[in-house]
Amino acid sequence: MSNKRNFSDLDFEEKLNDFYENFEEFKKITEKIIKKTRLIEKSITVVPRAITFAGTIGSGKTTCTKIFEKFLKDNGYKVKRMIEVSMQIPNALNLFYETKNGLFFQQVITDKYKQVIDEINELEDYHYILIDRGFKEIEIFTDLIIKDKKSKEYLKKQRDLIAFKLQNDIIFVNPTKKTAIERKKARNRLWEKCDEEYLSELYDKYEEYIPKIYQKYTVFNNDAYICKDCCELKECNDENCNIRKYYNFFSIFLKQYE
Ligand SMILES: [Zn+2]
Repeated sequence: MSNKRNFSDLDFEEKLNDFYENFEEFKKITEKIIKKTRLIEKSITVVPRAITFAGTIGSGKTTCTKIFEKFLKDNGYKVKRMIEVSMQIPNALNLFYETKNGLFFQQVITDKYKQVIDEINELEDYHYILIDRGFKEIEIFTDLIIKDKKSKEYLKKQRDLIAFKLQNDIIFVNPTKKTAIERKKARNRLWEKCDEEYLSELYDKYEEYIPKIYQKYTVFNNDAYICKDCCELKECNDENCNIRKYYNFFSIFLKQYE
């Protein structure tokens, strides 16, 4: 015995009519579902991860940040790289190197950092935000430049107003002191008028402070030579270039997010 029901032509027509009647209703519901799905999709924006490249002057952290940015973009990620804050206020930095007015400069840079971090906190639709030197590192410079206790306390209060909301992982770009000073000399940026003694003291302060200001960080020793083309994000034609070491480090670093 078969349970198959046989519809007469009339039955079928009735069913078809029913179907068309219901179809409009069905269409409306489907459209609503699609609309809701799109809204949900829109609200699930990617929460960006911040990666801060910490490092002293001449450490090569800006180059590292740029190479890492390219590396991530080449792998399909949406990336925002923040330009080092002191480079965003060149006039104030220049005035500091000329007048050695540390309190003035530390105040200006702290204010600027607050503005930049507030902006970063609002960013959406990026997978990664790369930060060239973190705001916590202001303390290292303050400690080196400012001797007066009250001024130090004042600046600490200003720094404490900065609040970073995103998950933030730290890469401490730390070549040897010799490499850092040589790189600085070779680069000779106009606005970085600092002598070898200052660079040497700053290097030591970084080694002392990084473990104190960041609970967790990954060290990247970038002593290995990379060619000029790689520094400028061009194609590499130098067989002595160690750009692979950079890529290997970054690949391993990113594994923590898998
Ligand atoms: Zn190269």
